[in-house]
Parts: sequence; C-alpha cells; structure tokens
Amino acid sequence: MLLLAGACATNPATGQHEFSLMSEDKEIELGHEQDAQVRKEMGVYGDQALQQYINDVGLKLAQVSERPNLPWHFTVVDTPAINAFALPGGYIYITRGILPFLDDEAQLAGVMGHEIGHVTARHAARQYSRTTASQVGLILGSILVPQAAPMAQLGETGLGLLLLKNSRDDELEADSLGAKYAARAGWDPDGIPQMLTTLGRIEETSDSKGVPNWMQTHPVAEDRVQKVQAAVRDAEQGATKFTTDHDGYLKRIDGLVYGDNPDQGIVRGATFLHGGLRLAIDFPDGWDITNGTSAVVARQPGEKSVVVLEPVTHPTGRTLDQVAVLGMERAGFTPMSGGRTTINGLDAFEGTYAGSMQNIGRVTIRAAHVAFDRRVYLVAGVAPQAAYDSVEPLLSKSIDSFRGLTRADAERLQPNKIALYTARAGDTWQTIAARAGTGVVKPTTLAIMNGHAVSDQPRAGERLKIVTAG
Ligand SMILES: [Zn+2]
Repeated sequence: MLLLAGACATNPATGQHEFSLMSEDKEIELGHEQDAQVRKEMGVYGDQALQQYINDVGLKLAQVSERPNLPWHFTVVDTPAINAFALPGGYIYITRGILPFLDDEAQLAGVMGHEIGHVTARHAARQYSRTTASQVGLILGSILVPQAAPMAQLGETGLGLLLLKNSRDDELEADSLGAKYAARAGWDPDGIPQMLTTLGRIEETSDSKGVPNWMQTHPVAEDRVQKVQAAVRDAEQGATKFTTDHDGYLKRIDGLVYGDNPDQGIVRGATFLHGGLRLAIDFPDGWDITNGTSAVVARQPGEKSVVVLEPVTHPTGRTLDQVAVLGMERAGFTPMSGGRTTINGLDAFEGTYAGSMQNIGRVTIRAAHVAFDRRVYLVAGVAPQAAYDSVEPLLSKSIDSFRGLTRADAERLQPNKIALYTARAGDTWQTIAARAGTGVVKPTTLAIMNGHAVSDQPRAGERLKIVTAG
C-alpha cells in the first residue's frame, strides 16, 4: 500500500531519479512538527546576535543550493553536545557545543553546508520513506521518558534517538555538497576537510563521552577527509579568493557558554548542581554523569548500576508514601520495604524495590522520593540484583546527599565560557589549561578546539579560544 502512494521524483541535489514517498509539502510539514520537539527538548541558545549570525551564514549557503526556496531555518540549540543536524524541509540546527571546535567561518560554513546537503539531497526524506510513519512516531515518542515508566528508558535518555543515523554514502554526498555550497557562497571549501579532521580528533580522544554527539549521527571515518578532496578541488575551480575569517569567527563566539549551563544543571567533579531548581546531589566518585532533559543519570563505569535523579511530574496520591509506592508500582517495581525519613532536613520516603529493566534484567532499587520546593524528586540507585549488596553503600550515600541550595549558592553557579587569548612564548596547552583551574578544560581539548593535533603546541602570537571557569 505504501509503495503505491510513492512517486518517482528527480532528486534536486543529485539530479538522479529516485523513488520518493514524500512530497516537498510533506517534508516541510514533518520538519515543522519535529522542530517544535527539538526546540522544547534542547532549548534555543539565548544569544540573539549569535542566532542572527548563524542564520545569515546559513541563508547565504542555502541560496546557492539547489533548493533556495525552501523555508530555511537555522538555529543554535542550547546543548553542550558536539553536533549539527537537519530535519526535512530546511530545518538546520547547530549546537553551541560544536561552535568552539570550529576555528573559522569557512569551517562553520562547512558544517552548515553539509547539513544543508542532507536536506537538498533529501536524505531524511528518503530515510523516512524506508521506515514507516509509525516507526518514526515511536522514535519521537521515546525521547521523553514516559511518566508511567520513569526509568524504563534509562539507557536511552537524550535526543540521540531523534537523530536518524545517516548512511555512509549520504555522509560523503553531504560533504561534497557542503564543499560546493561553501565555495559558491565565497568560503574556502577546505573548511570541510579541516572541520572533519577536528571532529576526528575529538573522536580519537573521546572528550565528549556521555553526550549525543556528531560521532553518533555522523560516523567520522578518517577517509572522509580524503574522499571530500576531489569535491574541494572541483569547488575551487575558477575561484580566485575565498574567505576563511579566523579572527572574525572567534569574536562571534567570545563569551559563549562552554559545557553545561547552570540553568540546566552543571556537573562539578562528582556533584550535580542545578541553579534553576536550586538543588544538588553527589554521585559516586568516578561514575559517568549524563544530564538529560528529563533525568540526570550517573553510571558506574563498565557496570550496569546507575543513580538517577528526576522530578516526579505527575504524582499520584495524597501523601509522600503514596506518591512513592504508587509511582514505583506503576513503573513496574514491587516495594520490598520502606518508610518515612528526612534527607538533609527534607521530607522523604525511602524504600527498596524489585523488578526488571530493559538492558539490565532483574534489578534491586534503593529509592528516595523527596519533597522539596513544592515538587517531589525521585533519587534512585539501581543495581543488577547480583551486584546490589556490593554497591548499596554507594547508592545510599548518593541518595543521602540530595540537598537544596540557598539562593546565594544558586546565584554563584556560573557556566564556564569561551574567551579569547593571544599565545605568548612558552605557553603550552598544559599551562593554559592549568590557569583555567582544575578540571575546567583538558589540554588536549584546547589543542583540538584550536585546530591543532594534540601533539602540537600553540605558536607565540596565535589567537586562541580558551575556557574560563564560571
Ligand atoms: Zn551528516
């Protein structure tokens, strides 16, 4: 039945005839729907001047593409993840997290040209054609942790699911299209292999663990840098001078929030602090902390135990005991024991539950439902049944660290930011990172974000992006 609904169409970017199930109107409609979801989940970065700049660069590229008349939208989303992505119909997103890793405007144009290429070549539309509407609906539906099963989606928090993984051929095609658009609009098409090189270095050093990032949706293979060279040479034909604009680009991102934003919660060592909600919790030392939109999850490295913090958004029951027990039962867990207590002066119901979870199997859960600031928060330590006794002390210690922050404490939380700095003789990535403070930024990250291999050092007089502590 679906096949009958399709029509053969000419791909605007490649000129090839292909079977397409989606009209342009449908593409735009789908993009528009999902755009609302992206904006809600990730948030839009609150810097009008930067948004305008990204929009200007994007429109210049789109206007020299094969589909200049789509209703193009370019948005910087407020996430530290290193990524850029596109929805059908001309919706392009670039994260604030990727911006520090681009070293000039030509590289920015390269990333955006690549994403525009996914739209003009109708990659998402083609992929949509290969799946069914109900499957896409499922993917979107599972972004939000369903309230009925607060922890069922533990392994899958974050927007990674929305971002359909593009095929390798699609990636190479988008790289080539990006080089073409960048050159046509006057930017050096070498920006594409340069930014791919940088993204490859990030992948090698795994500086971006725990966040859905470019690497998950755009598998960076070293040979993409090689494969795009022919397109870059083609794009360079006949042009005399291209723009790169290193210094101008750096000025645009001076002061950009780097890493987590306190309004969305920040991680300092093993502690998670949320300025907006005025709360804090200490997770077990060394666990990998992921700050998702609906929950914060700390995972034991190499193991399956986790500690989760999330607000209970639709509590059932009149007392805290009922909210706790009914909520956990509704999520499929059986109460084993429990009772009222206080945690750092806050009313709480602390209990032990049994059940099973996707990707883990049989689990034992130590959980506290804590009343704080007119909300109930769930702090849950989850362990595979067999491992529970050994990790229980860590889980309980973490649960017992949940606390409110004073207004003054909350206001003192400031994000780390990008600043500009001119390297002096004798500076190394190590000395620059050390001046920022412990744990603010790694020397290797500074090297990579400034377009260097991690084995290189900055040149005296080089204009650099650095990170300053909040
Ligand atoms: Zn791509």
